[in-house]
Amino acid sequence: MGIKVAKFGGSSVADAIQINKIRDIVFEDEDIRYVVVSAPGKRFSEDSKVTDLLYLCKTHIDHKLAYEQIFQVITDRFMSLESSLGVDVGIKDELAEIRSNINEGASADYIASRGEYLNAKIIAAYLGFEFLDSAKVIKFSDKGKFMEERTNDELAGALKGEGRFVVPGFYGSRIDGSIKTFSRGGSDITGALIARAVGADVYENWTDVSGFLVADPRIVENPKPISHISYKELRELAYMGASVLHEEAIYPAKVANIPINIRNTNRPQDPGTMITSEPAVLEEGQIISGIAGSRGFTSITIFNSHMIGQKGFIRKMAGILEDHDVTIEHIPSGIDTMSVVLNSKIVEGKVEEIMEEFERQLKPEAMEVSTDLALIATVGAGMAFRTGTSAQLFGALAEAGVNIRMIDQGSSEMNIIVGVAEKDFEKAIRAIYKAFVG
Ligand code: ASP
Repeated sequence: MGIKVAKFGGSSVADAIQINKIRDIVFEDEDIRYVVVSAPGKRFSEDSKVTDLLYLCKTHIDHKLAYEQIFQVITDRFMSLESSLGVDVGIKDELAEIRSNINEGASADYIASRGEYLNAKIIAAYLGFEFLDSAKVIKFSDKGKFMEERTNDELAGALKGEGRFVVPGFYGSRIDGSIKTFSRGGSDITGALIARAVGADVYENWTDVSGFLVADPRIVENPKPISHISYKELRELAYMGASVLHEEAIYPAKVANIPINIRNTNRPQDPGTMITSEPAVLEEGQIISGIAGSRGFTSITIFNSHMIGQKGFIRKMAGILEDHDVTIEHIPSGIDTMSVVLNSKIVEGKVEEIMEEFERQLKPEAMEVSTDLALIATVGAGMAFRTGTSAQLFGALAEAGVNIRMIDQGSSEMNIIVGVAEKDFEKAIRAIYKAFVG
């Protein structure tokens, strides 16, 4: 027998039908001892998330506008949850208390956190599990800094024993007792913190998709799911814009070496994606784990036939960018050329000045700017030390008629990044997918 922590996201707890699915999942698997819940999310695409409605109440108050109608929508959702699940946790009184706190000037964090708080109360009663308020165990300093060790100790203490618990995600409290939330989507962090504190064997993250996909389904038709990926590969994909778990959310599980399993509440029979420290044992013929990319990069290439022998060249270049408050994304280089790839949004309005400074300090023979660059990362631990991977990648792009403007391969050989014109972005991703996945 193992210990599992299961976190259910907003769409998994959006209404009584979804919460029923959770009950089946949790009752089917006794190893799930700890359940972390988000606030109710969208029930259909035009619906509102409770957390958004709570923030909206606060914005109305700040602008001295009436917020009652919005609060009524929230009230209706929770009252109907309580009655359709047939539990009695005194939601009406809870809501009255929240309202009076709001009227007395409660903070945005307090207001936003109430979605998780009320939902966890209802779900705990429905499952017959103990409710543990995160405010008691997830701790921030009075200045709002997250207290990692203290939280770990508090959680371990409160959750020891044989019980089964429901814990609201997203928030904790400062030492003075005031509520403090994590950033949006922060229930994932709560789940990971609990997984670490109780030494879970698996952290299950239940959502509305059956794990991550090898490529963006808006670009590639019906992409394959990723069955197993390492934290490192995932980080590369996330950095390149794949919408996967937040780095902050992964961290507590990663340091404790706890596998994370992304699962689908609507299709519990699907195995989902398993994320572990070790790279996956690859299936026959599988080389890559995922493809991700984004548009919106600018590159400045400097040509200088004596660059290689010059001391301090990169330092000067980096210094100029730092002076303009611009971060560097990549520095692909050749013998006589060096490029810096920058985020177009960050560098907007500064390119000319930066180039003037390059001209003055670096004395290049020539410079070239490309503004409509898209970067695509092909990620996979299976690429390391395998000859021919890049040839296969570049061949596929050539065949698709995509011109490669830049290539960057990290020394880990786990990631090959190519820069292409933004107009070729989707075509390039489809070509890479076809070449490696089929
Ligand atoms: N309810 C919060 C949000 O919408 C936190 C979460 O669901 O993870 O951001």
